[in-house]
Amino acid sequence: MLSAVHSLIDSVGQRLDIPQAVIDQLKAFNKEHAFDITLDNGKSFKAYRMQHNNKRGPYKGGIRYHPDVNLDEVQALATLMSLKTAAVNIPMGGGKGGIAVNPRELNEAELEELSRKYVRHLQPHIGSEKDVPAPDVNTDSKIIDWMVDEFGKLSGAADVASFTGKNIANGGSAGRTAATGRGGVIALAELLRLMGKSDENFTFAVQGFGNVGSYFGTVAEVTNPNWQLVGASDSQAGIQREAGLNATELQEFKADRGRFKDYMSDDTQIISNEDLLGMDVDILVLAGLEDSLTAQNMKNVRAKYIVEMANGPITSEAYDYLTAAGKVILPDVVANAGGVIVSYLEWLQNKNDEHWSEDKVNKQLTDLMEKAVQDMYEAAQQDKTDLKQAAFAMAIKRLTA
Ligand code: NAD
Repeated sequence: MLSAVHSLIDSVGQRLDIPQAVIDQLKAFNKEHAFDITLDNGKSFKAYRMQHNNKRGPYKGGIRYHPDVNLDEVQALATLMSLKTAAVNIPMGGGKGGIAVNPRELNEAELEELSRKYVRHLQPHIGSEKDVPAPDVNTDSKIIDWMVDEFGKLSGAADVASFTGKNIANGGSAGRTAATGRGGVIALAELLRLMGKSDENFTFAVQGFGNVGSYFGTVAEVTNPNWQLVGASDSQAGIQREAGLNATELQEFKADRGRFKDYMSDDTQIISNEDLLGMDVDILVLAGLEDSLTAQNMKNVRAKYIVEMANGPITSEAYDYLTAAGKVILPDVVANAGGVIVSYLEWLQNKNDEHWSEDKVNKQLTDLMEKAVQDMYEAAQQDKTDLKQAAFAMAIKRLTA
Protein backbone atom coordinates (compact mmCIF):
# COMPACT_ATOMS: atom_id res chain seq x y z
CA MET A 1 0.00 0.00 0.00
CA LEU A 2 2.85 2.41 0.83
CA SER A 3 4.44 1.85 -2.59
CA ALA A 4 1.20 2.94 -4.30
CA VAL A 5 1.08 6.16 -2.25
CA HIS A 6 4.77 6.76 -2.97
CA SER A 7 4.43 6.26 -6.71
CA LEU A 8 1.61 8.80 -6.81
CA ILE A 9 3.72 11.27 -4.81
CA ASP A 10 6.62 10.65 -7.24
CA SER A 11 4.55 11.18 -10.35
CA VAL A 12 2.85 14.32 -9.04
CA GLY A 13 6.19 15.65 -7.77
CA GLN A 14 7.75 15.16 -11.21
CA ARG A 15 4.81 16.85 -12.92
CA LEU A 16 5.24 19.83 -10.57
CA ASP A 17 9.02 19.92 -11.29
CA ILE A 18 9.88 19.44 -7.63
CA PRO A 19 13.47 18.13 -7.23
CA GLN A 20 13.56 14.38 -6.44
CA ALA A 21 15.58 15.05 -3.25
CA VAL A 22 12.73 17.19 -1.92
CA ILE A 23 10.18 14.50 -2.83
CA ASP A 24 12.33 11.82 -1.15
CA GLN A 25 12.43 13.98 1.96
CA LEU A 26 8.63 14.25 1.86
CA LYS A 27 8.27 10.47 1.66
CA ALA A 28 10.56 9.85 4.66
CA PHE A 29 9.20 9.33 8.18
CA ASN A 30 10.28 11.64 10.98
CA LYS A 31 9.89 8.94 13.64
CA GLU A 32 8.75 5.33 13.54
CA HIS A 33 7.64 3.43 16.62
CA ALA A 34 7.11 -0.32 16.29
CA PHE A 35 6.88 -2.34 19.50
CA ASP A 36 5.23 -5.26 21.27
CA ILE A 37 2.61 -4.95 23.98
CA THR A 38 2.32 -7.88 26.36
CA LEU A 39 -0.70 -8.14 28.65
CA ASP A 40 -0.39 -9.43 32.20
CA ASN A 41 -1.92 -12.73 31.04
CA GLY A 42 0.92 -13.17 28.51
CA LYS A 43 -0.98 -12.31 25.31
CA SER A 44 1.26 -10.23 23.05
CA PHE A 45 0.47 -7.85 20.18
CA LYS A 46 2.44 -5.83 17.59
CA ALA A 47 1.86 -2.10 17.93
CA TYR A 48 2.83 0.90 15.80
CA ARG A 49 2.85 4.68 15.73
CA MET A 50 4.26 6.30 12.60
CA GLN A 51 5.01 10.01 12.84
CA HIS A 52 5.33 11.03 9.23
CA ASN A 53 5.38 14.80 8.87
CA ASN A 54 4.87 17.70 11.32
CA LYS A 55 5.89 20.61 9.12
CA ARG A 56 2.44 22.20 9.33
CA GLY A 57 1.52 21.23 12.92
CA PRO A 58 1.43 18.33 15.41
CA TYR A 59 1.17 14.80 13.96
CA LYS A 60 -2.49 13.83 13.63
CA GLY A 61 -4.01 10.45 12.90
CA GLY A 62 -6.09 7.60 14.23
CA ILE A 63 -5.22 4.40 16.07
CA ARG A 64 -6.63 1.26 14.47
CA TYR A 65 -7.28 -2.09 16.20
CA HIS A 66 -7.50 -4.79 13.54
CA PRO A 67 -5.86 -8.21 13.05
CA ASP A 68 -4.48 -7.11 9.65
CA VAL A 69 -2.66 -4.02 10.97
CA ASN A 70 0.95 -4.11 9.72
CA LEU A 71 3.88 -1.77 9.24
CA ASP A 72 3.26 -1.11 5.53
CA GLU A 73 -0.38 -0.21 6.14
CA VAL A 74 0.34 2.13 9.06
CA GLN A 75 3.11 3.83 7.07
CA ALA A 76 0.81 4.33 4.09
CA LEU A 77 -2.02 5.67 6.25
CA ALA A 78 0.36 8.03 8.10
CA THR A 79 1.61 9.41 4.78
CA LEU A 80 -1.97 9.86 3.56
CA MET A 81 -2.74 11.79 6.78
CA SER A 82 0.02 14.31 6.03
CA LEU A 83 -1.39 14.76 2.54
CA LYS A 84 -4.95 14.98 3.88
CA THR A 85 -4.31 17.65 6.51
CA ALA A 86 -2.39 19.66 3.89
CA ALA A 87 -5.06 19.14 1.19
CA VAL A 88 -7.81 20.53 3.42
CA ASN A 89 -5.41 23.17 4.74
CA ILE A 90 -5.57 22.63 8.50
CA PRO A 91 -2.50 23.28 10.70
CA MET A 92 -1.80 19.65 11.53
CA GLY A 93 0.69 17.04 10.32
CA GLY A 94 0.31 13.36 9.61
CA GLY A 95 0.69 10.22 11.70
CA LYS A 96 -1.07 6.91 12.24
CA GLY A 97 -1.12 4.15 14.81
CA GLY A 98 -2.40 0.65 15.15
CA ILE A 99 -2.33 -2.61 17.02
CA ALA A 100 -2.58 -5.99 15.27
CA VAL A 101 -5.44 -7.30 17.39
CA ASN A 102 -9.00 -8.47 16.98
CA PRO A 103 -10.64 -6.47 19.78
CA ARG A 104 -13.66 -8.83 19.74
CA GLU A 105 -11.39 -11.54 21.12
CA LEU A 106 -10.48 -9.46 24.18
CA ASN A 107 -12.62 -8.79 27.20
CA GLU A 108 -13.11 -5.22 28.41
CA ALA A 109 -10.35 -5.39 31.04
CA GLU A 110 -7.85 -6.70 28.46
CA LEU A 111 -8.86 -3.99 25.99
CA GLU A 112 -8.31 -1.31 28.63
CA GLU A 113 -4.93 -2.76 29.63
CA LEU A 114 -3.86 -2.90 25.97
CA SER A 115 -4.93 0.71 25.36
CA ARG A 116 -3.21 2.02 28.48
CA LYS A 117 0.01 0.12 27.73
CA TYR A 118 0.02 1.56 24.20
CA VAL A 119 0.06 5.06 25.71
CA ARG A 120 2.66 4.09 28.32
CA HIS A 121 5.06 3.16 25.54
CA LEU A 122 4.47 6.32 23.52
CA GLN A 123 3.97 8.91 26.26
CA PRO A 124 7.15 10.96 25.61
CA HIS A 125 6.24 11.26 21.93
CA ILE A 126 2.60 12.37 22.15
CA GLY A 127 0.81 15.45 23.46
CA SER A 128 -1.21 18.41 22.24
CA GLU A 129 1.82 20.09 20.64
CA LYS A 130 3.54 16.89 19.46
CA ASP A 131 1.17 14.18 18.25
CA VAL A 132 -2.60 14.10 18.70
CA PRO A 133 -4.04 10.61 18.08
CA ALA A 134 -7.73 9.86 17.43
CA PRO A 135 -9.99 6.83 16.95
CA ASP A 136 -10.00 4.79 13.74
CA VAL A 137 -11.36 1.37 12.78
CA ASN A 138 -12.52 -0.52 15.94
CA THR A 139 -11.46 2.22 18.34
CA ASP A 140 -13.93 4.66 19.89
CA SER A 141 -14.37 7.40 22.47
CA LYS A 142 -14.25 4.91 25.36
CA ILE A 143 -10.78 3.72 24.30
CA ILE A 144 -9.63 7.30 23.73
CA ASP A 145 -10.88 8.28 27.20
CA TRP A 146 -8.71 5.51 28.76
CA MET A 147 -5.77 6.80 26.74
CA VAL A 148 -6.25 10.43 27.80
CA ASP A 149 -6.52 9.30 31.40
CA GLU A 150 -3.33 7.23 31.17
CA PHE A 151 -1.51 10.05 29.42
CA GLY A 152 -2.59 12.51 32.14
CA LYS A 153 -1.40 10.15 34.91
CA LEU A 154 2.00 9.67 33.27
CA SER A 155 2.50 13.34 32.43
CA GLY A 156 1.39 14.51 35.86
CA ALA A 157 -1.19 16.90 34.38
CA ALA A 158 -4.38 16.47 32.39
CA ASP A 159 -3.97 17.50 28.76
CA VAL A 160 -7.32 16.86 27.06
CA ALA A 161 -6.04 18.33 23.79
CA SER A 162 -3.57 15.42 23.53
CA PHE A 163 -6.20 13.14 21.94
CA THR A 164 -9.34 13.80 19.93
CA GLY A 165 -12.47 11.72 19.55
CA LYS A 166 -13.15 11.84 23.30
CA ASN A 167 -16.57 11.61 24.89
CA ILE A 168 -18.32 14.99 24.99
CA ALA A 169 -18.27 14.92 28.81
CA ASN A 170 -14.50 14.48 28.64
CA GLY A 171 -13.81 17.35 26.22
CA GLY A 172 -14.96 15.76 22.96
CA SER A 173 -16.53 17.86 20.23
CA ALA A 174 -20.16 17.91 19.22
CA GLY A 175 -20.50 16.49 15.72
CA ARG A 176 -17.33 14.33 15.81
CA THR A 177 -19.03 10.93 15.49
CA ALA A 178 -20.84 11.87 12.30
CA ALA A 179 -18.06 14.12 10.97
CA THR A 180 -16.41 11.82 8.42
CA GLY A 181 -19.70 10.74 6.86
CA ARG A 182 -21.03 14.31 6.93
CA GLY A 183 -17.82 15.62 5.38
CA GLY A 184 -18.20 13.11 2.54
CA VAL A 185 -21.73 14.30 1.82
CA ILE A 186 -20.61 17.95 1.86
CA ALA A 187 -17.69 17.14 -0.46
CA LEU A 188 -19.81 15.20 -2.95
CA ALA A 189 -22.55 17.85 -2.96
CA GLU A 190 -19.96 20.55 -3.65
CA LEU A 191 -18.35 18.53 -6.44
CA LEU A 192 -21.73 17.90 -8.07
CA ARG A 193 -22.54 21.62 -7.76
CA LEU A 194 -19.28 22.54 -9.49
CA MET A 195 -20.14 20.05 -12.23
CA GLY A 196 -23.59 21.65 -12.65
CA LYS A 197 -25.40 18.57 -11.35
CA SER A 198 -26.91 19.82 -8.08
CA ASP A 199 -30.50 19.44 -9.18
CA GLU A 200 -30.29 15.93 -10.64
CA ASN A 201 -31.72 12.87 -8.92
CA PHE A 202 -29.19 10.17 -8.07
CA THR A 203 -29.23 6.66 -6.67
CA PHE A 204 -26.38 5.51 -4.43
CA ALA A 205 -25.03 2.43 -2.70
CA VAL A 206 -22.76 2.33 0.36
CA GLN A 207 -20.16 -0.40 0.70
CA GLY A 208 -19.35 -0.74 4.45
CA PHE A 209 -22.27 0.59 6.50
CA GLY A 210 -20.19 1.22 9.64
CA ASN A 211 -19.52 4.56 11.31
CA VAL A 212 -18.52 6.42 8.15
CA GLY A 213 -20.88 4.72 5.72
CA SER A 214 -23.98 4.91 7.91
CA TYR A 215 -23.51 8.60 8.69
CA PHE A 216 -22.95 9.27 5.00
CA GLY A 217 -26.39 7.71 4.50
CA THR A 218 -28.22 9.42 7.36
CA VAL A 219 -26.76 12.87 6.69
CA ALA A 220 -27.51 12.61 2.95
CA GLU A 221 -31.07 11.60 3.79
CA VAL A 222 -31.55 15.00 5.46
CA THR A 223 -29.38 17.34 3.40
CA ASN A 224 -29.65 15.78 -0.07
CA PRO A 225 -33.07 14.14 -0.44
CA ASN A 226 -32.53 13.94 -4.23
CA TRP A 227 -29.94 11.18 -3.58
CA GLN A 228 -31.70 7.86 -2.99
CA LEU A 229 -29.97 5.08 -1.02
CA VAL A 230 -30.69 1.75 -2.75
CA GLY A 231 -27.88 -0.55 -1.52
CA ALA A 232 -25.73 -1.09 1.57
CA SER A 233 -23.28 -3.75 2.73
CA ASP A 234 -21.25 -4.95 5.69
CA SER A 235 -18.34 -7.38 5.73
CA GLN A 236 -20.58 -10.40 5.06
CA ALA A 237 -23.33 -9.34 2.66
CA GLY A 238 -25.26 -6.50 1.09
CA ILE A 239 -28.89 -5.54 0.69
CA GLN A 240 -30.61 -3.89 -2.21
CA ARG A 241 -34.02 -2.25 -2.56
CA GLU A 242 -34.93 -0.44 -5.77
CA ALA A 243 -37.63 1.66 -4.10
CA GLY A 244 -35.07 2.97 -1.62
CA LEU A 245 -33.67 2.13 1.80
CA ASN A 246 -34.06 4.13 4.99
CA ALA A 247 -30.54 4.96 6.20
CA THR A 248 -31.64 5.91 9.72
CA GLU A 249 -33.44 2.61 10.17
CA LEU A 250 -30.42 0.68 8.78
CA GLN A 251 -28.08 2.55 11.13
CA GLU A 252 -30.23 1.43 14.08
CA PHE A 253 -30.26 -2.13 12.73
CA LYS A 254 -26.43 -2.13 12.61
CA ALA A 255 -26.17 -0.48 16.05
CA ASP A 256 -28.17 -3.46 17.41
CA ARG A 257 -25.44 -5.71 15.97
CA GLY A 258 -27.63 -6.65 13.01
CA ARG A 259 -26.04 -8.33 10.00
CA PHE A 260 -27.33 -7.59 6.52
CA LYS A 261 -27.31 -11.28 5.67
CA ASP A 262 -30.19 -11.61 8.19
CA TYR A 263 -32.02 -8.44 7.11
CA MET A 264 -35.70 -8.94 6.30
CA SER A 265 -37.97 -6.35 4.77
CA ASP A 266 -40.42 -6.02 1.87
CA ASP A 267 -38.85 -5.91 -1.59
CA THR A 268 -35.33 -6.06 -0.16
CA GLN A 269 -32.91 -8.56 -1.67
CA ILE A 270 -29.81 -9.92 0.05
CA ILE A 271 -26.87 -9.66 -2.35
CA SER A 272 -23.15 -10.46 -2.20
CA ASN A 273 -20.50 -7.83 -1.50
CA GLU A 274 -19.31 -8.10 -5.09
CA ASP A 275 -22.87 -7.59 -6.38
CA LEU A 276 -23.09 -4.39 -4.37
CA LEU A 277 -19.93 -3.00 -5.99
CA GLY A 278 -21.42 -3.68 -9.42
CA MET A 279 -24.90 -2.27 -8.70
CA ASP A 280 -26.54 -0.13 -11.35
CA VAL A 281 -26.40 3.10 -9.33
CA ASP A 282 -25.17 6.62 -10.07
CA ILE A 283 -22.93 6.88 -7.00
CA LEU A 284 -20.87 4.18 -5.30
CA VAL A 285 -19.64 5.10 -1.81
CA LEU A 286 -16.68 2.98 -0.65
CA ALA A 287 -16.66 3.08 3.16
CA GLY A 288 -15.22 -0.35 4.05
CA LEU A 289 -11.50 -0.96 4.06
CA GLU A 290 -8.53 -0.66 1.68
CA ASP A 291 -8.29 -2.30 -1.75
CA SER A 292 -11.98 -2.95 -2.41
CA LEU A 293 -11.86 -2.21 -6.12
CA THR A 294 -9.04 -4.09 -7.81
CA ALA A 295 -8.07 -5.48 -11.22
CA GLN A 296 -10.39 -8.40 -10.48
CA ASN A 297 -13.63 -6.46 -10.08
CA MET A 298 -13.01 -2.99 -11.61
CA LYS A 299 -14.80 -3.89 -14.83
CA ASN A 300 -18.04 -4.61 -12.95
CA VAL A 301 -18.43 -1.05 -11.64
CA ARG A 302 -21.40 0.69 -13.22
CA ALA A 303 -21.61 3.84 -11.08
CA LYS A 304 -20.47 7.07 -12.73
CA TYR A 305 -19.34 8.67 -9.44
CA ILE A 306 -17.22 6.87 -6.85
CA VAL A 307 -16.56 8.33 -3.40
CA GLU A 308 -13.48 7.07 -1.55
CA MET A 309 -14.65 7.31 2.07
CA ALA A 310 -12.25 4.56 3.21
CA ASN A 311 -8.53 5.19 2.84
CA GLY A 312 -7.18 3.73 -0.38
CA PRO A 313 -10.23 1.61 -1.31
CA ILE A 314 -9.20 1.53 -4.99
CA THR A 315 -5.88 -0.02 -6.09
CA SER A 316 -3.79 2.07 -8.51
CA GLU A 317 -4.48 -0.27 -11.40
CA ALA A 318 -8.24 -0.06 -10.80
CA TYR A 319 -7.96 3.71 -10.34
CA ASP A 320 -6.32 4.17 -13.73
CA TYR A 321 -8.82 1.86 -15.42
CA LEU A 322 -11.87 3.56 -13.88
CA THR A 323 -10.56 7.05 -14.60
CA ALA A 324 -9.91 6.11 -18.24
CA ALA A 325 -13.44 4.69 -18.37
CA GLY A 326 -14.77 8.17 -17.52
CA LYS A 327 -15.66 7.60 -13.87
CA VAL A 328 -15.40 10.59 -11.53
CA ILE A 329 -13.60 9.56 -8.35
CA LEU A 330 -13.79 11.84 -5.31
CA PRO A 331 -10.45 10.97 -3.65
CA ASP A 332 -9.97 9.84 -0.05
CA VAL A 333 -7.60 12.62 0.99
CA VAL A 334 -10.46 15.09 0.60
CA ALA A 335 -13.62 12.93 0.74
CA ASN A 336 -12.93 11.43 4.18
CA ALA A 337 -11.16 14.43 5.73
CA GLY A 338 -14.29 15.44 7.70
CA GLY A 339 -13.10 13.37 10.65
CA VAL A 340 -9.71 15.00 10.87
CA ILE A 341 -11.21 18.45 10.30
CA VAL A 342 -13.55 18.04 13.29
CA SER A 343 -10.68 16.46 15.27
CA TYR A 344 -8.76 19.65 14.59
CA LEU A 345 -11.79 21.69 15.73
CA GLU A 346 -11.94 19.56 18.93
CA TRP A 347 -8.24 20.24 19.57
CA LEU A 348 -8.85 23.95 18.99
CA GLN A 349 -11.81 24.02 21.41
CA ASN A 350 -9.76 22.18 24.08
CA LYS A 351 -6.82 24.54 23.70
CA ASN A 352 -9.07 27.60 24.03
CA ASP A 353 -11.17 26.01 26.77
CA GLU A 354 -14.30 26.39 24.65
CA HIS A 355 -17.23 24.16 23.80
CA TRP A 356 -18.95 24.85 20.50
CA SER A 357 -22.49 23.94 19.45
CA GLU A 358 -22.95 21.23 16.84
CA ASP A 359 -24.21 23.88 14.41
CA LYS A 360 -21.00 25.86 14.79
CA VAL A 361 -18.86 22.75 14.30
CA ASN A 362 -20.84 21.68 11.22
CA LYS A 363 -20.63 25.18 9.75
CA GLN A 364 -16.82 25.25 10.07
CA LEU A 365 -16.61 21.73 8.67
CA THR A 366 -18.74 22.80 5.69
CA ASP A 367 -16.62 25.89 5.01
CA LEU A 368 -13.30 24.00 5.15
CA MET A 369 -14.57 21.08 3.10
CA GLU A 370 -16.21 23.17 0.39
CA LYS A 371 -13.05 25.26 0.00
CA ALA A 372 -10.92 22.10 -0.33
CA VAL A 373 -13.23 20.69 -3.03
CA GLN A 374 -13.27 24.00 -4.90
CA ASP A 375 -9.44 24.24 -4.83
CA MET A 376 -9.07 20.61 -5.92
CA TYR A 377 -11.60 20.96 -8.74
CA GLU A 378 -10.00 24.17 -10.01
CA ALA A 379 -6.53 22.59 -9.95
CA ALA A 380 -7.82 19.55 -11.86
CA GLN A 381 -9.41 21.77 -14.52
CA GLN A 382 -6.30 23.92 -14.83
CA ASP A 383 -3.80 21.05 -14.99
CA LYS A 384 -6.14 18.66 -16.86
CA THR A 385 -5.67 15.91 -14.32
CA ASP A 386 -7.99 13.71 -12.30
CA LEU A 387 -9.14 14.84 -8.86
CA LYS A 388 -6.70 12.65 -6.89
CA GLN A 389 -3.71 14.02 -8.81
CA ALA A 390 -5.05 17.53 -8.16
CA ALA A 391 -5.54 16.90 -4.43
CA PHE A 392 -2.04 15.40 -4.12
CA ALA A 393 -0.55 18.35 -6.03
CA MET A 394 -2.27 20.83 -3.72
CA ALA A 395 -1.00 18.98 -0.65
CA ILE A 396 2.53 18.40 -1.96
CA LYS A 397 2.93 22.09 -2.85
CA ARG A 398 1.95 23.07 0.70
CA LEU A 399 4.21 20.44 2.27
CA THR A 400 7.25 21.38 0.21
CA ALA A 401 6.76 25.18 0.15
P1 NAD B 1 -16.27 0.72 10.92
O1 NAD B 1 -15.56 -0.46 11.45
O2 NAD B 1 -17.25 1.44 11.77
O3 NAD B 1 -17.07 0.33 9.59
C1 NAD B 1 -16.54 -0.42 8.56
C2 NAD B 1 -17.68 -1.17 7.90
O4 NAD B 1 -17.21 -1.79 6.72
C3 NAD B 1 -18.27 -2.28 8.78
O5 NAD B 1 -19.68 -2.24 8.66
C4 NAD B 1 -17.72 -3.56 8.15
O6 NAD B 1 -18.59 -4.65 8.33
C5 NAD B 1 -17.67 -3.12 6.69
N1 NAD B 1 -16.76 -3.89 5.84
C6 NAD B 1 -15.52 -4.34 6.09
N2 NAD B 1 -15.05 -5.02 5.02
C7 NAD B 1 -16.03 -4.97 4.08
C8 NAD B 1 -16.17 -5.50 2.78
N3 NAD B 1 -15.19 -6.18 2.21
N4 NAD B 1 -17.31 -5.27 2.10
C9 NAD B 1 -18.32 -4.56 2.65
N5 NAD B 1 -18.24 -4.05 3.88
C10 NAD B 1 -17.13 -4.24 4.59
O7 NAD B 1 -15.12 1.71 10.40
P2 NAD B 1 -15.26 3.24 10.00
O8 NAD B 1 -14.81 4.07 11.12
O9 NAD B 1 -16.60 3.48 9.41
O10 NAD B 1 -14.15 3.36 8.86
C11 NAD B 1 -14.37 2.90 7.54
C12 NAD B 1 -13.23 3.38 6.67
O11 NAD B 1 -13.18 4.79 6.68
C13 NAD B 1 -11.83 2.90 7.07
O12 NAD B 1 -11.07 2.68 5.91
C14 NAD B 1 -11.28 4.08 7.83
O13 NAD B 1 -9.86 4.13 7.81
C15 NAD B 1 -11.87 5.21 7.04
N6 NAD B 1 -11.93 6.45 7.78
C16 NAD B 1 -12.60 6.52 8.96
C17 NAD B 1 -12.66 7.72 9.62
C18 NAD B 1 -13.48 7.87 10.89
O14 NAD B 1 -13.62 8.99 11.36
N7 NAD B 1 -14.05 6.83 11.43
C19 NAD B 1 -12.02 8.85 9.11
C20 NAD B 1 -11.35 8.74 7.89
C21 NAD B 1 -11.31 7.54 7.24
